[in-house]
Amino acid sequence: MTEPVTTSAAPESTPVVGSGAAGAPAASAPTSGSTGTGVRIEHLSKTFSVGRGKEVVALQDTTLFTDRGSFLSLLGPSGCGKSTILRILAGLEEPTTGTALVDGKTPRELRRDHELGIAFQDSALLPWRSVESNIRLPFQVSGTQADDDLVRELIRLVGLEGFEKAKPGQLSGGMRQRVSIARALVVKPSVLLLDEPFGALDDMTRQRLNLELLRIWTEKPATTLMVTHGISEAIFLSDEVAVMSPRPGRVKEVIDVDLPRPRTPDMMRTPEFHALHDRASELLFGDGGAAVEAGS
Ligand code: ADP
Ligand code: MG
Repeated sequence: MTEPVTTSAAPESTPVVGSGAAGAPAASAPTSGSTGTGVRIEHLSKTFSVGRGKEVVALQDTTLFTDRGSFLSLLGPSGCGKSTILRILAGLEEPTTGTALVDGKTPRELRRDHELGIAFQDSALLPWRSVESNIRLPFQVSGTQADDDLVRELIRLVGLEGFEKAKPGQLSGGMRQRVSIARALVVKPSVLLLDEPFGALDDMTRQRLNLELLRIWTEKPATTLMVTHGISEAIFLSDEVAVMSPRPGRVKEVIDVDLPRPRTPDMMRTPEFHALHDRASELLFGDGGAAVEAGS
């Protein structure tokens, strides 16, 4: 799972143009906070008991807001609580203190209303089921009528036409992750939670899938929170990149990615991109860490 990555798109020394372009510290409470839509994480803390009276403070007083329909990436050192934030939003963990809401709904309400799309690195596909039937699974789980047109459309969108009847064991890692993403989207989620969705894949596959993810997200926009170790992919995909401090995690800074959309890979060679990359590296590693992506 460890993958220290040096992207060719991000050379060691990069020109910094206009300090403002490097993502001035964003206020931790942008406009979405007041409208109640999008993701509102406020003063979120999570402490795990790990036996014999010992505790691990995974998150401490984390506050983060995003706009509805925006794409936010979470970057931070291993163990700083990124997955914990996603698991709380998914209703898989209860926060110790604080609140996490999406469009005004609690994780419990989001689950009840089938508004969560989740694709984690180890998203388990059912090995005895075909691609198509794995993607249909959420309909069965929620006891709702399957939308065959949507299933077909998603299979096309993730580039798995012709593999509808294949079993997960017959697919490559990248293809399996595409099935997971299609399955996450089949509920038409208002929030999409991606936890290192391509983390286990080789660099080339990962870059290709990032491009596909961008295309999919553009066609089916949902408020998206993605955890990643890749600085370049975080910037390339996102409207905002939240950089977290080491455990106990807090949001250090939210970098506003004001690169135009549609995004194309050649943008990764622009001074603006490099400036954003430098800012994220500096926050993660301090000065001098610009060429190294965070390893897990
Ligand atoms: P990240 O995703 O940023 O790598 P996590 O959110 O998975 O970090 O974990 C944050 C911290 O909380 C880590 O120190 C981890 O060991 C701890 N932790 C996470 N889940 C549990 C759990 N269920 N029980 C005990 N400790 C946990
Ligand atoms: Mg994690």
